[in-house]
Amino acid sequence: MMQFQNTLAFARELDQQDELKPYRQEFHFPKIQGKDVIYFTGNSLGLQPKRAQKYVDDIMKDWRELAVEGHFYAEKPWWDYHERFAKPLSKIVGALPEEVTVMNTLTVNLHLLMVSFYRPTAKRFKIICEEKAFPSDQYMLASQVRFHGFDPKDALVEVKKREGENCWRTEDVLKAIEETGDELALVMMGGVNYYNGQVFDMEAITAKAKSLGANVGWDLAHGAGNVELKLHDWGVDFAAWCSYKYMNSGPGNVSGIFVHQKHLNKKDIPRFEGWWGHDKERRFLMEPEFTPMPNAEAWHISNAAVIAMAPYLASLELFEEIGMEKLIAKRNVITAYLEFILLDIAKEVGSSFEIITPSNPSERASQLSVFLHGEGRALFDYLMENGVITDWREPNVIRLAPVPLYCSFEDMYHFGQLLKKGIQKNK
Ligand SMILES: *Cc1c(COP(=O)(O)O)cnc(C)c1O
Repeated sequence: MMQFQNTLAFARELDQQDELKPYRQEFHFPKIQGKDVIYFTGNSLGLQPKRAQKYVDDIMKDWRELAVEGHFYAEKPWWDYHERFAKPLSKIVGALPEEVTVMNTLTVNLHLLMVSFYRPTAKRFKIICEEKAFPSDQYMLASQVRFHGFDPKDALVEVKKREGENCWRTEDVLKAIEETGDELALVMMGGVNYYNGQVFDMEAITAKAKSLGANVGWDLAHGAGNVELKLHDWGVDFAAWCSYKYMNSGPGNVSGIFVHQKHLNKKDIPRFEGWWGHDKERRFLMEPEFTPMPNAEAWHISNAAVIAMAPYLASLELFEEIGMEKLIAKRNVITAYLEFILLDIAKEVGSSFEIITPSNPSERASQLSVFLHGEGRALFDYLMENGVITDWREPNVIRLAPVPLYCSFEDMYHFGQLLKKGIQKNK
């Protein structure tokens, strides 16, 4: 392990050694007091890649000049625009290209995938999820359960954290699966928890649930573009993610889905269908009978939102250039450096920060969630006024995501200094 120092010179040294340093220039940073902000909320909305503008402009131009002909004659034809995502995305989530596509938005996609993969019976009807899952996931799961005529109180099994602990234990998730046994229809969890930043052992959890005959789906809102995923090899049945967090595609933008190869090319799988899931060679014959695409596109319903997808494609180009391996390597160092700075500042100011994200690097990724005991909203406001964009959760938790694509080590150092001043000021 590298011996860190909480100095500007050391932070600059780390930046000099950083292979991804040039990619910071690929992004637009908001400015506060005329300076680029220190951006810690890429886990909520990623920054805008500069090249996104051209991708959007190209489509506006083709639409302006070609109108309907753009479907086939645009520079990047619209009728198969979405196909460009399968290969780069498959590398990011560890899948075969045919297992991956883009469509709709995240919660919508999870609902659509549950149509196929949550098929409860009187005996096997339970769903395991983590307690206090992201609210949209809670509403989704409860409404799916009710839709099938069950009561969420009976059907939803929430895995809890132990009294006094900030993280879930894998053994507790596995035990819940074991105990639910042949009543278990589905495990549906967030692969990376949005609140404490914990990365679940997706491989072990998936294997356990599959061994008991249940389906497994992962919400990868905080996982895609952030952690190493091997969805195909792990035998995950389905997954979905949004693209606007670590993948920098723009607010509320299209979601990605994964459906395991073993579920492709099946006519009898229950699914809500539409014309964009129909065999593309025969799509415009307007036949009455549905023939599914042989890949994840069988779950497509409507023709694709091409203007929306454009910035996502621009962003994926960066991921293609860099590769997840290098991103993850920098992520580990910059997260550890931020942790070091937080602990160092805590010592200096005599405050007790409690980092509620696991300290084990294999159980965390780009996010540190910190309880700032004894501090209040004034500290958050001070940081914001001084150009640090963080995410504050009452009563006093900040979530910090030092995204490796565009955050620098110098950012971490300056943040530490501002945090120190902010705390001393409020004393
Ligand atoms: C961000 C996030 C969502 C957001 O869902 P949308 O349908 O894109 O609004 C859902 N689930 C989790 C776990 C998230 O982190």
